[in-house]
Amino acid sequence: LIRITDIKRDFQLGSETINVLKGIDLNINKGEYVALMGPSGSGKSTLMNLLGCLDTPTSGTYILNGKDVSKMHDDDLAEVRNKEIGFVFQTFNLLPRTTALDNVALPMVYAGYSKSDRHERAKEVLAQVGLADRMDHQPNQLSGGQRQRVAVARALVNKPSIILADEPTGNLDSKTSVEIMKLFDDIHANGNTVILVTHEEDIAQYAHRIIRLRDGIIESDTPNR
Ligand code: ATP
Ligand code: MG
Repeated sequence: LIRITDIKRDFQLGSETINVLKGIDLNINKGEYVALMGPSGSGKSTLMNLLGCLDTPTSGTYILNGKDVSKMHDDDLAEVRNKEIGFVFQTFNLLPRTTALDNVALPMVYAGYSKSDRHERAKEVLAQVGLADRMDHQPNQLSGGQRQRVAVARALVNKPSIILADEPTGNLDSKTSVEIMKLFDDIHANGNTVILVTHEEDIAQYAHRIIRLRDGIIESDTPNR
């Protein structure tokens, strides 16, 4: 599903070049459940943004589902992203003053579905994440855990092949974190590929493979059960 060869990502800050990813090789098969760990600043989010087609590498290749996405331009990249990727963020990134239903239905607008199809599918995924009774609530009328459930539902709505989550429990208490992790377990059990970033060892234990980054390279990559 994912084939990454010698990926580097530099950033230009004024006259200075910062080498953030220094040569990453990584293969991930369909249906894997991977935790990405490593110290702050080691390049986890940079790698997730590349995996999620939010960014392209400075050099190296990224083959996603047989397609080379490493040199794609914005429009083509956005199309791949919309089809293949569901992204969940630490800070939820929901639209305020917009109901849970409309937040979840939004990615389907770009995919070109009719309004009634969008609402039907959004209701289905909201029910799947346990929010059948919260569809008309706006984000500020929901708890943190409920907001993250909405974000997970939004990530699932276009039936992506990969769910990427960058510290999805980073803003949640430990009880709510466990609930969200159970949700990722269900998603994985349904056949999805799940890749998540976490700082917490007990969150990483949900995954079946743990990759540790350090200073822009993969330090270790081990099965977890
Ligand atoms: P954290 O655990 O704190 O979220 P991280 O492993 O996700 O850290 P990244 O966000 O990938 O780290 O950042 C890695 C390094 O790349 C940092 O030193 C950061 O300053 C740098 N960096 C990231 N994005 C940019 C950018 N757009 N321009 C310049 N430098 C950047
Ligand atoms: Mg990060």
